[in-house]
Amino acid sequence: MQGRIHSIETLAAVDGPGLRMAIFLQGCPQRCIYCHNPDTWNPTGGELMDSEEIVKKAIRYKPYFKNIGGVTVSGGEPFMQTEFVTELLKGLKRENIHTAVDTSGYYLNDSVKKALEYADLVLLDVKHAEAEKFSEITKAEYERISKFLEYMRETGKSVWIRQVIVPDYTDGDEQMEKLMELLKGVNVERVDLLPYHTLGVDKWKELKMPYALEGVKPPDNDTMKRLNKIVKQYYPQNREND
Ligand code: SF4
Repeated sequence: MQGRIHSIETLAAVDGPGLRMAIFLQGCPQRCIYCHNPDTWNPTGGELMDSEEIVKKAIRYKPYFKNIGGVTVSGGEPFMQTEFVTELLKGLKRENIHTAVDTSGYYLNDSVKKALEYADLVLLDVKHAEAEKFSEITKAEYERISKFLEYMRETGKSVWIRQVIVPDYTDGDEQMEKLMELLKGVNVERVDLLPYHTLGVDKWKELKMPYALEGVKPPDNDTMKRLNKIVKQYYPQNREND
């Protein structure tokens, strides 16, 4: 089955455990104000590739994955192409390759649930724990992320939480405490706080789209340390990004 691929990174070290092949799928409905890959948004862009072609590529990299690495299907929002993701994950599991899906939790229906059965790990980008701020950051309804988290609670799926730390949005102690509250009952293996960065700003300019966070600077080290300390109170084993 064919899917629209934005890009493939071989041997990435930041998209899940170990060394991984990261497949970035085309298409995303979230429209986050800090998105550093707005060129993934258009669902008709990218290059058509067959799921088996990607599985074959992953097999070649298997020696590098060792015991903990594998393949991460990311985006964009991968579940904009759920059928393709299911085929891809199924093929990877057939070859005994560890699978992760990096999602924003935007979609949750029977097909997504089916696809998730073939994912060993979910990387979930929560955006914001409060409804009001959530819809300032994205074009999605908060209900979507709360439903997705509820499903994670029900299934006990292993989850790595990711949250981008954006000054004035997610960098307060109170916001971090709210996020920790929201995660209660979810099988959280790790919480990654990712400092907001401006590397994608030029892409917004190229696409002639106004950038809402113009002039906003990345959070400083002290802020990141302070927030990671709160996370450690809830998840003492949590490792800061490496
Ligand atoms: S969910 Fe990810 S790809 Fe989609 S707009 Fe947000 S940051 Fe960009």
